[in-house]
Amino acid sequence: MIKNEAVRDHLILEDQQEEACGVFGIYSNDPDFEAATLTYLGLYALQHRGQESAGIVVSDGQHLAVHKNLGLVSHVFNRDILEQLKGRIGIGHVRYSTTGSSLFANAQPLAARCSRGMMAVAHNGNLVNTESLRIRLQNEGSVFQTTTDTEVIINLIARHSRDSLPNAIIKATAELKGSYSSLIMTKDTLIGVRDPYGVRPMCLGKLSNAYILASESCVFSSIGARFIRDVEPGEIIFIDNDGVRSYHLPKVNRRALCVFEYIYFARPDSNIDGINVHLARKAMGNELAKLFKGEADVVIPVPDTGVSTAVGFAETSGIPYDIGLIKNTYVGRTFIQPHQELRDLGVRIKLNPVESVLRGKRVVIIDDTIVRGTTSGKIIHLLRDAGAKEVHMCVSAPPITHPCYYGIDTSVRKELIASSHSIEEIRRYIGADSLTYLNMEGLLQAMVPKEELCLACFNGEYPIEIQDEHNDKYLLEER
Ligand code: SF4
Repeated sequence: MIKNEAVRDHLILEDQQEEACGVFGIYSNDPDFEAATLTYLGLYALQHRGQESAGIVVSDGQHLAVHKNLGLVSHVFNRDILEQLKGRIGIGHVRYSTTGSSLFANAQPLAARCSRGMMAVAHNGNLVNTESLRIRLQNEGSVFQTTTDTEVIINLIARHSRDSLPNAIIKATAELKGSYSSLIMTKDTLIGVRDPYGVRPMCLGKLSNAYILASESCVFSSIGARFIRDVEPGEIIFIDNDGVRSYHLPKVNRRALCVFEYIYFARPDSNIDGINVHLARKAMGNELAKLFKGEADVVIPVPDTGVSTAVGFAETSGIPYDIGLIKNTYVGRTFIQPHQELRDLGVRIKLNPVESVLRGKRVVIIDDTIVRGTTSGKIIHLLRDAGAKEVHMCVSAPPITHPCYYGIDTSVRKELIASSHSIEEIRRYIGADSLTYLNMEGLLQAMVPKEELCLACFNGEYPIEIQDEHNDKYLLEER
């Protein structure tokens, strides 16, 4: 089955995991503050987290204004649109659809009028009890216009209209199960919430007197802001005229940051929960090199996420690092291409081999994951066509055997090649001379303790119970 393609560091995206979303919010008390422009720049820095749609909602303290559309940030906004979005508070969102389809109606942030006035929500993550919440709310009279988790969150908050805003948000979020690192905005308040397991990241920063909440810390250097700290799992941060204050949801027994934030979702210049992504990937490369038993003349990355890992691999193995594949950064989206021949051409448009580096060489190629195996096979084919004598595939994660329910668009289980094939079978399928995966010990050595990560893609130990019938498509496919 061919799936929508989306840009990231990858080539043929029907073979890749795709991440959920990126959120950015900014609050200033200065009435002349241009929240829209800074939100636009923040979303630009988060574009790698979603390319289906982009949107910004701003408030001048009285009214909310919104603009959103399908497409990349640079396509959705221009100078005229940003000038019309006047306000000192803003939230923005880049989306890759994980729940709901990629319809315009599902583009975020979602703004709605409720009894406490206008409210907007930008959500990153995936709830595992959306359907049961939606059915309950519909039975109680709510009407839904979209199929997103986000609208469920707005409705839950609206239900608690007699409570103060903090209490309404605490009560509403206490009902959510799953992953969420989301921003909520009223006409005069910016709120950030991170689920108690901390599956998706969120951090707090400052630009002069303005406060910022964002999915990743890489946005701060992009806009000249200062990183303050990570938002704690289960923390709700309120930013308004009185400054910044925190509330906390009931504690759970562990943290469960998605390990793929380190493996490839996040930008290497981001720090997540105190760990720099580039250094984590480099350490994965160090560990991966210890497991590689072959001999080679050169180690090359699949750009861009393989770069840091390949540097670490070269450092430990002593095999020289070089650039053997060039990514065309300016390709942007490619559209679904119906014929295999055209899809193969799509790889060559996005990625080109450097023949003079590869010809006659025994090549180690470093990639971050193998999902279905089709992308790896095509890359290896490219390298052999360019004259590589041997191609050894090294992967900076253990085999992916289980699907994700927390906001990552992995295949259903039967499409995950490692769920039904041995490593030797996968090696033969992708056409590599050898195939080395990082093992769990090496992965954890490179990062934080096991108890702080979600590793369910590798071991099937889901930290948050999967409750809803909307996940049946996965469960049925798994049988
Ligand atoms: S199941 Fe996999 S992709 Fe999903 S949050 Fe856990 S580790 Fe990340």
